[in-house]
Amino acid sequence: MEERCIIVGAGHAGSQAAVSLRQEGYLGEIILIDDEADIPYHKPPLSKAYLKAPDASSLVLRPEAVYRDNSIELLLGAHVSTICVDDRKLALSDGRQIGWTDLILATGARARIPDLVGVGARGVVSLRSIADARLIRDMMAGIDNVVIVGGGFIGMEMAHSCSVLGKKVTLIEAAPRVLGRSVAEVVSTHVKARSRAAGIDVFTGVQVAAFEEKDGRIEAVRTVDGRRFEAEMVVLGVGAVPNVELAIEAGLAVDNGIVVDSHLRSSAPHVYAIGDCAIYNHHHVGRRIRLESVQNATDQARHVARSIAGRPGPYRDVAWFWSDQGDMKLQTAGLSFDADRHFTSGNPEENAFSVYHFQGTRLLAVDSVNRPADHMIARRLLAAGVSPTEADIAAGPQHLKQLASEKQPAPA
Ligand SMILES: Cc1cc2nc3c(=O)[nH]c(=O)nc-3n(C[C@H](O)[C@H](O)[C@H](O)COP(=O)(O)OP(=O)(O)OC[C@H]3O[C@@H](n4cnc5c(N)ncnc54)[C@H](O)[C@@H]3O)c2cc1C
Repeated sequence: MEERCIIVGAGHAGSQAAVSLRQEGYLGEIILIDDEADIPYHKPPLSKAYLKAPDASSLVLRPEAVYRDNSIELLLGAHVSTICVDDRKLALSDGRQIGWTDLILATGARARIPDLVGVGARGVVSLRSIADARLIRDMMAGIDNVVIVGGGFIGMEMAHSCSVLGKKVTLIEAAPRVLGRSVAEVVSTHVKARSRAAGIDVFTGVQVAAFEEKDGRIEAVRTVDGRRFEAEMVVLGVGAVPNVELAIEAGLAVDNGIVVDSHLRSSAPHVYAIGDCAIYNHHHVGRRIRLESVQNATDQARHVARSIAGRPGPYRDVAWFWSDQGDMKLQTAGLSFDADRHFTSGNPEENAFSVYHFQGTRLLAVDSVNRPADHMIARRLLAAGVSPTEADIAAGPQHLKQLASEKQPAPA
């Protein structure tokens, strides 16, 4: 068979992989398959701008002509039901079978649905796709009370978007702080205070017990500590689960994600996994992690395209992320899990500051609120493997930029 690369999933990772393969000079056939009917689109605006000013055309990742001009066959509304790694074939749910020489799994993740009484009531929704966003937008038109369950990035963004639209918003987070898995405590405290000041009722350390419904429609949220919050709509923002069923059935190694090596190769030859569905050993933290971010999806896609085009190498890109919540632009560079020391630069009271996370003297990550220049410099410092001292940070961005440029990026 002539060379053919099939990509399952046309989200941020899959769409980028298809285009990057051509940019890297791949001459074989490329087939990009997704079970959604919409042309590949940007997901971040779904919880931000889209709800406030829905314009689907601005969400399109790449115009259709890009796929056509690059001879990328786009199969939309097509679900891949099985893959067979021995025969190098996959089957679509309409019965079609297609062979490949290389396969990229970019199946993403789906919203986690908590196992709680009443979770199936009308008006209890989650947000992952453009179809979910359309449903939420339509529902919002006739309601006043929204309860958001979960104070992670999507929950916080949704809370601010609903609040701007004039809804009464209550946000319930089970952990002691919002964004607890992702940012420094000082950032969580700041976001909670600022969100409250924006009119959002934020409760932390409060666990949802059940959803009350009337005639099949959501009416209220009950919490374990006995409170009751009226709700005409509930948005679940309690995390995502990777779409790994295809990989499990095909016998690939899976552990909270499709396990890939430093080249993003799965346990089967010629099968790669990238983006939200993949778990890999991150060289910065020295253990397996699964990231859910546009950076991770697109950088891994570029990387795997280089490998397939004959230029393999270990994936070592710096992780970074952003989130827009009301008047706060949050940006994180690096991964702070193992930090034992934190240094704040700037003033939270001015709604502009950065928190530098260290393990000993080694810089691990930087969380920034409305300090985009700090974020960009942090990415450069981390890529170059440069750890500034507190005095360097206090000396200001120009000095840090200089430090970063004095050292070449760490070898790949
Ligand atoms: C509302 C929202 C806001 C976000 N905001 C931000 C942000 O501000 N910043 C940031 O960095 N990240 C953000 N993210 C996360 C980011 O969008 C994801 O990390 C990114 O979309 C992951 O890309 P992916 O290609 O791995 O997965 P996805 O974009 O989820 O794409 C996977 C695709 O695979 C398809 N698929 C799965 N299984 C099959 C199958 N068997 N057959 C055919 N097709 C299949 C799915 O339908 C889906 O279209 C946000 C996510 C959401 C949902």
